Amino acid sequence: MKRLFARTQIGAVRAYRRTRNAHAKSRMPRVIAVARRAELPEDLHPRCVYLLGATTPKWALLDCPCGRGHTIELNLANPARTRWTVTTDETGRPSLHPSIDYQGQHRCHYWLKDGRIHWVPNRTRG
Ligand SMILES: [Zn+2]
Repeated sequence: MKRLFARTQIGAVRAYRRTRNAHAKSRMPRVIAVARRAELPEDLHPRCVYLLGATTPKWALLDCPCGRGHTIELNLANPARTRWTVTTDETGRPSLHPSIDYQGQHRCHYWLKDGRIHWVPNRTRG
């Protein structure tokens, strides 16, 4: 089911590059804390940010909201690498700072603010 959805998504991206974001997920309103990597589900819930760390969170993991089915891992603790900050509002909706800018085969650039995804237009596309 998930694989079929991913293929459909890629086809939609090819056909409608300009409206790519209309097919992507726009909300990620929950945070789940786990102590160890082994406690993470095999498939991360698409609307959850997972915080990984026994005492303080060391990593934030999320299913990228682009819908292509890849996982984003953000360093929260190691000062030798780019670090992200996670905050939650009074209803538990997460924000991440700075923006997430994944650059692999494709680019996924967005902010997560109060549980909502704000896509950054990709000026280098095309
Ligand atoms: Zn992505």
